[in-house]
This record gives sequence, structure tokens and C-alpha cells, in this order.
Amino acid sequence: MIQFYNTLSGKLEPFNPITPVEIKLYTCGPTVYDYSHIGNCRAYIFEDLLKRFLIFKGYKVKHVMNITDVDDKTIKGANAEGIKLQEYTKKYIDTFFEDINVLNILKADFYPRATEHIQDMVKMIKGLLQKGYAYKKDGSVYFSIAKFPNYGQLSKINLEELKPGERIESDEYEKENVNDFALWKNKKEGEPFWETEIGAGRPGWHIECSVMSSKYLGQTFDIHCGGTDNIFPHHENEIAQSEAYSGKKFVNYWIHCHHLIVDGEKMSKSKGNFFTLRDLLNKNVNPSILRFLLLSTHYRKMLNFSFKALEQASASFQRIKDFLYELKNRSFEEGENEEIPLLIEEMNQNFTGGLNDDLNIAVALRAIFEMIRKVNILISQGKIYREDADKLVSSFNSLDEVLGVLHEEKEEMLPSEILKIIEEREKARKEKNYKLADQIRDELLRKGIVLEDTKDGVRWKRGKAKS
Ligand code: AMP
Ligand code: ZN
Repeated sequence: MIQFYNTLSGKLEPFNPITPVEIKLYTCGPTVYDYSHIGNCRAYIFEDLLKRFLIFKGYKVKHVMNITDVDDKTIKGANAEGIKLQEYTKKYIDTFFEDINVLNILKADFYPRATEHIQDMVKMIKGLLQKGYAYKKDGSVYFSIAKFPNYGQLSKINLEELKPGERIESDEYEKENVNDFALWKNKKEGEPFWETEIGAGRPGWHIECSVMSSKYLGQTFDIHCGGTDNIFPHHENEIAQSEAYSGKKFVNYWIHCHHLIVDGEKMSKSKGNFFTLRDLLNKNVNPSILRFLLLSTHYRKMLNFSFKALEQASASFQRIKDFLYELKNRSFEEGENEEIPLLIEEMNQNFTGGLNDDLNIAVALRAIFEMIRKVNILISQGKIYREDADKLVSSFNSLDEVLGVLHEEKEEMLPSEILKIIEEREKARKEKNYKLADQIRDELLRKGIVLEDTKDGVRWKRGKAKS
């Protein structure tokens, strides 16, 4: 039996899907105004672990992740650069896909974009107006929280403190500002807008997830995830919009991962402790080790990222890699040890048992390291044979369907800005500007990217960053 901690009930609950044939999963995706930072990566990796585990248990999973390509932050970013919203967000949509590929995150079935679902949002907002849950004011449309008695059920807000009738414009706000929130924002100078039946303007942030989740997964679905920062106001507002509109329960299991912090502090650019995935790849961090680190803390615990923690993760990761290398490459005698299938069975049971229990990753990983310890003893005693080694390797590969860290290194994609620099160098070489080409080569070397000019073109590999 699987159990998960449901933020809605505040309890561990047995997991009962609506239909065991296919689980419907919605995860809040990136707001594409910047590169993914390692906090975002934590959320995506936790969601990937959850999804992979459900697949491992034999379920089919239909997964939808939205892309927020219009909201306060994206508009601000585009205006600051003086470019069109779409041009601005495209860069971060592309880099988001590069990032999840590097982190070996399984692709969702759909990545709906807010700007491609404006008409669907208008339809839901019209419905909310008709049902009396929403009202118009100065060309904008607001959700009236006083009309929805269950408001606050997810974030456990004290309803007494609500200020019904007062309105909040911005997409993000604190609990102290719990107010009627914007479903649709009136056209404003310097903001993109759509001409629609409810007026000219653009959607608020929250409505997109209500609309796109129900469009692809139905009005009631199994699991909705995100980081804890999404609980209020985003997910609270999603519930209000969706349940007011459909009259049905929106989501059965709300599963949230806790925050990632760096060296004990909240990440912030001014403190210089803000890392994007790209920053770490440029420092030559192996993405599989980063993935291993980010998934090895239980998702409901705060994750404190530090380079020391990364080193420790690297050592544990290497232990598994070395073990597998040994099993694959050492020459073992023909034969088999009867104890091995029993040990594999025990490892599988402990691994699955751990994850069944609200994704208890510590228990699952312990099962793996315990196995390594026992088998290493057997190897030293000469009690492991060729067939045992093969069985062990395949048992680890099967568990890696869930962890996603041990796969043979697939060809890694470089961040697009580095690819651009390599292209510039190619251009310089073609134009016989060898001085510039050498300068660029040195610049890349400082980032730990080693270039080799071959007769088939330029090749790159990761090396030690040279100062
Ligand atoms: P955003 O791009 O800000 O909309 O966030 C995308 C996902 O990352 C959401 O699920 C957020 O809850 C999650 N997230 C943002 N910051 C952090 C953090 N520091 N730690 C963990 N998850 C985060
Ligand atoms: Zn969302």
C-alpha cells in the first residue's frame, strides 16, 4: 500500500487513485522569466521521483505541467529588456527543456502554455461571473472569496481574518493580504492584452492552472504538486476557482515539497547564494550527482544545499558507481550463489517499502547501501560468481528506473549560451580570425569546457576549469 502526506487533510493517507488504469498528475511548472534555479530543480526532481515510483509500481501516469508565459514577472522582465513577451519567454522555455533533459527528468505528456489557453480561461471566468462567484471592477474581474465558504481549506487560513471585498492585484501575495484576487486584469499601458468577451486585458496567474489542469485531466483528478510556496495563494485560489466552477472536488491529493535553501539561508541574488542549474554546470558539477543530492533528502524536509553536501553526495554516488563497475568488469568464476536472489528480494522489498511510505527516500537508499556492504563482503570472500554479478547489475538498473541517476551518461547537452559561444568561435575560425578563436577557447577553458578541433568539426568535453 502506498501512502502520501496530503496537505489538504494534513495527514498521511492511503493512496487510492480515481481509476487504477491511469493516474492523473498535475505539477505547477516554471514561470519563464529566468533560468531554473536549484530550488525549482528540487521541485521538479521530487515530482519526477513521485511519478517514476508510480510507474515502477505498475501505474500509467498522465502528467501535465503548465508553462506560465504571461504573468507579472514575465511582463516585467520583457519590458525591462524592451522586447516582446513571447521573444522574452521563448529563451527561458527553451532553457527549461534543456535543464530537465540534463537532470534526466521524464517528460510530461503535455506542457500547456498560458498564452495558448486564453479563450479557455475566458470561458471559466465567464462561468464564475454567471454563478456569482466573481465580479467586475474597473475593467478587471475578481474572485469573491466570501462567496466560497471553503476558502482557506488548503493553507488553513483563519477565515475570521479575511477581508472580503478588498482586492489584490498582484499575482503573488502573503497571507496577511488575503483578499479577493484577480481572475482577469484590465488592459494596462505597457502590458500585453487580449480582446475578449470579458474585455481587453490579460489573465491573472492562478486561473491558468485551474483551466489547463481540467482541460487535460478532467475536473477532478488525483494528484497536484508544487513547492510549499505555491500553497498560498496559488493553490488555494486554484481550488476556489475550480470547485466554484465545477461544483466538484478539484484534487484528491495535494503533495508539496519543502523549500531548498543554501548554506542555511534563503537564496537571494544579493547574498550571492543564488544558483541556477547553469551556474553549477559551469562549475563542472555532474548533473547526476546534483540529482542524487536533491532527491536524497525527504521531500517534506527543508533541503540545505551546500558544496560540502554536494561532495558528500558525490562520494555516495561514486560508491554505487564503483560497485557496479566492479560487478561488470571483474572476472568472476562461473556459477551462482543461492543467497543472492534472497538478498535482492530483501533489497527490493526495503526499497519499495520505504518509498511506499510517503516516499521515504532514506529507507530506500539505505536498502541499496546495505546491499553494497553485504555483497562487497561476499566478493572479498570469493562467494560471488558471474551469474550473481549479472543479476545484481540488473537489479540495480531496475531500481534506477525510480532514481534515474545511474544510467550510462547520455550525451550531455550544453547550456545554450555556451553553444552560442562555440558557434562564435567557429565563425571566427572560418573567417581566419584565429586570435579571437583562441580567446574564445580560453574563455571556455575557464568554464571547464575543453574544445578539440577535429577533421569532423569541433568536439567538446568537460575538463577542469582553468583560471
Ligand atoms: P516558479 O518558476 O517560481 O513558478 O516555480 C516552479 C516550481 O518550483 C514551483 O513548484 C515552486 O513551488 C518551486 N520552487 C520555487 N522555489 C523553490 C525553492 N526554493 N525550493 C523548492 N521549490 C521551489
Ligand atoms: Zn500552478
